[in-house]
Amino acid sequence: MQHIIIGAGPAGVVAAETLRKVDPDATITIIGDEPEPPYSRMAIPD
Ligand SMILES: Cc1cc2nc3c(=O)[nH]c(=O)nc-3n(C[C@H](O)[C@H](O)[C@H](O)COP(=O)(O)OP(=O)(O)OC[C@H]3O[C@@H](n4cnc5c(N)ncnc54)[C@H](O)[C@@H]3O)c2cc1C
Repeated sequence: MQHIIIGAGPAGVVAAETLRKVDPDATITIIGDEPEPPYSRMAIPD
């Protein structure tokens, strides 16, 4: 199965992790519009 996730925030990352758990052979593509790879917003103040 091929999955495409729009948005590389926490919801997108958790969706990808969940898909990987239930379908280890899935093709998962995350499309984001930020220049950086996914990061923890909670860590920004630190
Ligand atoms: C400084 C800071 C500290 C925080 N601390 C906490 C905390 O301690 N505890 C807590 O529970 N929450 C915290 N939050 C809130 C938490 O980060 C958000 O609730 C969480 O990021 C929401 O995740 P999300 O994936 O739903 O949305 P978002 O984080 O908004 O991610 C959505 C992503 O989709 C991308 N996107 C949007 N439209 C498109 C498009 N058309 N095409 C491609 N990509 C697109 C956006 O660029 C973004 O990267 C904090 C937030 C900040 C900013």
